[in-house]
Amino acid sequence: MTCREAIDVLADYLDGTMPSDVAAELERHLAECAPCRAYLATYRKTRELGTTAARVEMPEEMQVRLRRFLIDRLRAV
Ligand SMILES: [Zn+2]
Repeated sequence: MTCREAIDVLADYLDGTMPSDVAAELERHLAECAPCRAYLATYRKTRELGTTAARVEMPEEMQVRLRRFLIDRLRAV
């Protein structure tokens, strides 16, 4: 699994809608990939904020920005 694939399926992973074999593959990737772990942590926190503080909107734009940030970082390595 590449970082881009991992990022694409993170939402399903957090929703628990991901097939267990894909989840296992993602977890294997996360175990070896610090940037994706950081992304997951940020993404999860963002979603928690979104559900506990309904007024704080977490616009998709921010998720896109986070994703772009990570991809740029990975490209620079
Ligand atoms: Zn990764």
